[in-house]
Amino acid sequence: MSKFDEILSLIKQLPEVFETEEVALQDAFNSVLREDVLADMNMPPFHKSAMDGYACHFEDLGNEMEVLEVIHAGMMPTQTVGRNQCSKIMTGAAVPDGCDCVFKVEDSEEVAEKTVRCINLRTARNICYTGEDYQQGDVLIKEGTIISVPQMAVLAGAGYAKVKVSARPRITVIATGSELVEPHEKPEPGQIRNSNSSQVITQLRKMNLEVAENLQLKDDYDLLTHKFNEALENSDMVIFTGGASVGDFDFIPEILKEQGFKIYWDRTGFKPGNPMTFSQKGNKFAIGLSGNPVSSLVQFELLAKPAIYQLMGAKYTPTRIMATLNFDYRRKKADRLAIVPVYFGNDGKIEEIPFHGSAHINALISATALMEIPLGVDTINKGETVYVRPL
Ligand code: AMP
Ligand code: MG
Repeated sequence: MSKFDEILSLIKQLPEVFETEEVALQDAFNSVLREDVLADMNMPPFHKSAMDGYACHFEDLGNEMEVLEVIHAGMMPTQTVGRNQCSKIMTGAAVPDGCDCVFKVEDSEEVAEKTVRCINLRTARNICYTGEDYQQGDVLIKEGTIISVPQMAVLAGAGYAKVKVSARPRITVIATGSELVEPHEKPEPGQIRNSNSSQVITQLRKMNLEVAENLQLKDDYDLLTHKFNEALENSDMVIFTGGASVGDFDFIPEILKEQGFKIYWDRTGFKPGNPMTFSQKGNKFAIGLSGNPVSSLVQFELLAKPAIYQLMGAKYTPTRIMATLNFDYRRKKADRLAIVPVYFGNDGKIEEIPFHGSAHINALISATALMEIPLGVDTINKGETVYVRPL
């Protein structure tokens, strides 16, 4: 098993530590559902017309029919439709007992006052039958689902005005690096602007997570230790960027160990972004991402995100698509899984982006997907397929 696959199975074993809470339906978008959603009734709850038209007996389609009443959505029929009779009916209204067909207004011809005929004898039945979508007691959405647009509709339809979801963990983001200045500052020689904090915070926001505190700190062992411990008092999780590697001032893995955190992994097995630490102490978690922005982005997307979702009780599987390359891919060393930014062309094939490696965040501006080059593979020819993850 590759290092990356090993980590993915480790993640699947992480406990669901974060609490649950009840929120109003309107606030549930993008949250992790923590209960099975059950149907309290059949859907549709009655035989329902799928069209604006006339409800009748199918056998009478060729005949002239007397129109008994107009049934609008929201009311129940008051007349029993006999042979050679029909009732005008609106979309969403209850079909009268005994009727087995609704022909469309467009397929009708008025032959006299209150008398119509169907002029399309090949009409469909146009009835949605009771319980054909789901039945009372069915599980409509499983616990662990991340609530997206259709889930919001189904929750509302099933009467879930309040929803049990995962409480959001409190997260502190700490960018480390003595060379860092804030985005509003002009870097002096040797300095660069901190871009990782904005990136990580936005990745968290996409998961509907807010950041409790956002710090930018120098590579000072004691300062980092002190601020880390302070952050742990108010946070469930601390995410560091930078200082994750083996340089003289890369303190994060050491600090985590020193503070008694259990390290789950300190290498990812992919590039860019091999050094990354994931650790736990009690119910607190600390993640050390790389300083290089592309590495940090990929580490978050491939590992931090599934890990956080697992801790929140989500059943999360990233979307991976088999796509065709529109260029020849080559690499010198195939010792790790490689993640390469690409974009989808108009024909749906994937196109190359000039990419200089882990610091080249600008390359990702035009990227619409991350391509996965498996361990051991150094050549993929134009026309062959690879897995990509849409961004
Ligand atoms: P490190 O992981 O601390 O060794 O950093 C690797 C590279 O990423 C170095 O070139 C750093 O200057 C750069 N870097 C570290 N932190 C950030 C940050 N927050 N924003 C942008 N670049 C960073
Ligand atoms: Mg650094």
